[in-house]
Amino acid sequence: MLKIDNLHAEIDGKAILKGLSLEVNPGEIHAIMGPNGAGKSTLGYVLGGRPGYEVTAGSVTFDGQDLLEMAANERAAAGLFLGFQYPVEIPGVSNVQFLREALNAQRATRDEKPLSGGEFLKLARAQAAALEMDAEMLKRPVNVGFSGGEKKRNEMVQMGVIDPKFAILDETDSGLDIDALRIVGDGINRIMRKPDKAVLLITHYQRLLDYVKPDFVHVLADGRITRTGGAELAHELEREGYTQVAA
Ligand code: ADP
Ligand code: MG
Ligand code: MG
Repeated sequence: MLKIDNLHAEIDGKAILKGLSLEVNPGEIHAIMGPNGAGKSTLGYVLGGRPGYEVTAGSVTFDGQDLLEMAANERAAAGLFLGFQYPVEIPGVSNVQFLREALNAQRATRDEKPLSGGEFLKLARAQAAALEMDAEMLKRPVNVGFSGGEKKRNEMVQMGVIDPKFAILDETDSGLDIDALRIVGDGINRIMRKPDKAVLLITHYQRLLDYVKPDFVHVLADGRITRTGGAELAHELEREGYTQVAA
């Protein structure tokens, strides 16, 4: 589904990704762990198509298409979703407006009719309820004044509404209390644990992986994957640290 081959990328002339290769098949959940500054968020941004990130070598295909040739909105329409480490606040645009526009824009590319206001609200309320988010928050400007944990939960409501094929979730567990961690973990499983979907789960902590069990765990250090294992690798990392396990 996603094939990254020898990816090199830089920001402002500084090399960040230095030959990263990774293959993700449908039905798989891959966790990416690694020290601060390793390039985890950069990988998410490069895959999502954020401007300013220059790919200098390598290739990425998504469902056989050249992902790097596609504009960010085309990537989203193809089924890619990026959950941000630091979700952006959008004053003046309500969650409902934002999500309805995003969903209907994607439906249009698939020749599906836009959802009416009523149909959309029903869907958004159901997703908010599943994430135990107060439906009133759907009316508020996107992420404005939300706590760190509420922003992360809101990202999952967005993911539930959009129903993507491939999700890159960048530290979705950071800032969550224990109950919220379980709710978000259940949400990831409910929305994404399907035979035709896949997830890249970027996290620093083993604890999210107790809820969302990864098929593979990779260590990303200094811009490349330095080690790959199964779920047990996350436990080893937690015990021994990155420098011991995969410097
Ligand atoms: P991680 O998510 O693994 O903690 P990042 O991908 O956020 O790491 O960052 C990787 C490296 O790129 C870090 O050294 C960071 O300081 C650097 N970096 C990120 N954004 C920029 C930028 N806009 N300009 C220069 N360096 C950047
Ligand atoms: Mg970091
Ligand atoms: Mg990061």
